[in-house]
Amino acid sequence: MRKKFVAGNWKMHGNLAHNQKLLEAVLKNTTNLRQSEIAVCVPFPYLSAIQAQLKNTHIKWGAQTVSEYDKGAYTGEVSTEMLNDFGCKYVIVGHSERRAIYGENSQTVALKYIAAQKAGLIPILCIGETLEQREGRITEQVVGEQLNAVIEKAGAGSLMKSVIAYEPVWAIGTGKTATPQQAQDVHEFIRKSIAAHNTTIASKITMLYGGSVKADNASELFAMQDIDGGLIGGASLVAEDFAAICEAAQN
Ligand code: PEP
Repeated sequence: MRKKFVAGNWKMHGNLAHNQKLLEAVLKNTTNLRQSEIAVCVPFPYLSAIQAQLKNTHIKWGAQTVSEYDKGAYTGEVSTEMLNDFGCKYVIVGHSERRAIYGENSQTVALKYIAAQKAGLIPILCIGETLEQREGRITEQVVGEQLNAVIEKAGAGSLMKSVIAYEPVWAIGTGKTATPQQAQDVHEFIRKSIAAHNTTIASKITMLYGGSVKADNASELFAMQDIDGGLIGGASLVAEDFAAICEAAQN
């Protein structure tokens, strides 16, 4: 059975005092929840403080993006080595906000994914369709292309050391959650696509759903056969809500 995983994506929210209080409460409220993996992906400037607060606890941490380059004249960028300096386990790559607002395409995302793995980080690869694409009935095509861009560059074997987050863009931050069946259908499609390359990896890979997961819809979503947890935006900023979502992820 795959272990459930709940990862918070704080996006560009927080400050030192708020983060500390939030994590104190999350640590307290999730202390008995040891059957699932829990992580928070935080803004770069807070990695040092988060490392200090979370080391030797049951909660892991990571970043929300990373440079595809090792080092050099890339003003404003952060490398995988820098993330390792702060004990990151995970890094989100290809979040739809990075694709839409910062022009990251599937090729760049694949390079970031490869850089992360090369440094021993686990990429949380986000893929998902827009509302227009869903209404145009090309969800599988879009998600398949996003996945294949990574498989072509990194090889299907690389998926063994990654997490996939299916995040329909129309459900992110909108309060519109995909129904459990809508999410399950796409997860099943992704798992089958991976199985076409490698059945063992397909059965083992952790696949998260993301898009307005809340305390009151998490259990239903996580109960679906191919959904192994969630990537949580807004609700990860409220300790009780995030802890309740983590609780829903107990196998
Ligand atoms: C996200 O940021 O990946 C996300 C799913 O956000 P929200 O939960 O707020 O929709």
